[in-house]
Amino acid sequence: MTRLALIAHDEKKADLIDFVREHETRLGECSLVGTGTTGKRITEETSLTVERMASGPLGGDMMIGAEVAKEALDGVIFLRDPLRAQPHEPDITALLRICDVHDTPLATNLASAAYLIEGV
Ligand code: PGA
Repeated sequence: MTRLALIAHDEKKADLIDFVREHETRLGECSLVGTGTTGKRITEETSLTVERMASGPLGGDMMIGAEVAKEALDGVIFLRDPLRAQPHEPDITALLRICDVHDTPLATNLASAAYLIEGV
């Protein structure tokens, strides 16, 4: 089964929830993991359930990065807030890097996320 990670910064969480609702059928065929708050909101606000890691600032991005390093993820959708620096920026950069190391598909905006879920 395809296993995907879903992460969104606070300013992008509503967009990710809308995306999940719009693609509920396709995403329902996948096993989903997410950072703490993102995963909680998706589980509460859509029909899908998400395996929750720690919240991003507490290490959730690194936990997802570890899954990528284990090649246990088929793709990552990470809607970042491009306008605000995050306190855990080094962890975010590490996650993006490890996706490139393992050639794991990574989408950082809604348009590429739509391609990703069709392609994996
Ligand atoms: P959150 O983490 O889903 O727990 O808010 C996301 C992030 O900030 O990377």
